[in-house]
Amino acid sequence: MRISMVSEHASPLAALGGVDAGGQNVHVAALSSALTRRGHHVTVYTRRDAASLPPRVNIMPRLEVVHIDAGPARHVPKDDLLPFMGSFADGIARDWGDRRPDLVHAHFWMSGVAALDAARRGGAAQRVPVVQTFHALGTVKRRHQGAEDTSPQERQWLEPSVGRAVDRIIATCSDEVFELKALGIDTSKVSIAPCGVDLRLFAASGGSEARPRTHRILSVGRLVPRKGVDLVIRALPLLREAGFEDVELLIVGGGGDADVAGTDPEARRLAQLAEELGVRNQVNLRGQVPREAMPGILRSADVVVCTPWYEPFGIVPLEAMASGVPVVAAAVGGLTDTVVDRRTGLHVPPRDPAAIAESLGELLGDDGLRAELGRAGERRARSRYSWDRIAAETEKSYQQTLAVRAASRRLEPVEGAVL
Ligand code: UDP
Repeated sequence: MRISMVSEHASPLAALGGVDAGGQNVHVAALSSALTRRGHHVTVYTRRDAASLPPRVNIMPRLEVVHIDAGPARHVPKDDLLPFMGSFADGIARDWGDRRPDLVHAHFWMSGVAALDAARRGGAAQRVPVVQTFHALGTVKRRHQGAEDTSPQERQWLEPSVGRAVDRIIATCSDEVFELKALGIDTSKVSIAPCGVDLRLFAASGGSEARPRTHRILSVGRLVPRKGVDLVIRALPLLREAGFEDVELLIVGGGGDADVAGTDPEARRLAQLAEELGVRNQVNLRGQVPREAMPGILRSADVVVCTPWYEPFGIVPLEAMASGVPVVAAAVGGLTDTVVDRRTGLHVPPRDPAAIAESLGELLGDDGLRAELGRAGERRARSRYSWDRIAAETEKSYQQTLAVRAASRRLEPVEGAVL
């Protein structure tokens, strides 16, 4: 199959951990290469966000990334990108020329807007089928972030209309299907295919970074308030009261480098909170870490903690599980599918520092339990979440999409026929 992946803000080539570079970048990169390994030709279209980027980058045979000129050639926050989606669609359609792909798979709602636009350019008969993965939904974001949500107003109506117009939606967790239904989208066209984890990179065996204290709790992700890292900082004094004093909280992510606490606004907020609570010396803000360094960091942790307010999927818990590390996870969104309570980690209610402290204490105080949950997590990640498996499931959704399209074409009235 010739597949076009559209990912407007999240390039598979970007450095991870900044405000707008995380799971979607990983997802698009890993899914595209796994589909390529299955024999498909994949072209990823993303917006040029630096003048120095070449027009096309060949990643491996049958997989390339195309940088489309749409808006300024510099980083623009994703919530300001909507006005450029017309030029983005122009660029994609221009690159297709007469060789249109068999299918286009859009990631995030704005990519859906551009993909539908480009797909329609050849007229109804030529329309390229569009598959959509939302990664996040505006209704959920608005519910949790309220006035802090910086999404453009248009998202409220454009996102559901993308959902209605596309041929198929791939949801990344079961919770998302309920949300799509609430948007009035016909769920018979929704399949579920989770994100995967790179099992060649993340494994329980291998070296691990030295740690400065008896215990290490690890948080990894883009440093944005909704990831709830402050809740973990609030849990530290409670853990101390419970007798766990020699504990480090390592926080990976955030723009910038070692001086992240000086340069990144969210890191600054977290450092200040730690100061106020008297735990600043336990909190280590590491800043952005390249992918290759992540396995050794994950293996150095006793526990990985993921306590977002909401989470469309969450690749970090899978990376932790694949590394044999138990996860304390807020029971929200995709985390309720991936982390099995008391089997691969412990669930806590959202936004509850006391519950986080209690679960962390339970794990830090019980080497046997940590080892058992870690082993089960590794088995679960290996058996269910390889990208090869996710690519095979995604391919099935593609085939279904093409079959439905072919069937509907057969039902279309032939010009001039008497019905
Ligand atoms: N990540 C990274 N370096 C960092 C911070 C994060 O490589 O400094 C990676 C992390 O390992 C994971 C991804 O970014 O693969 C974050 O994905 P997740 O789905 O957990 O969160 P999202 O960014 O989608 O909200």
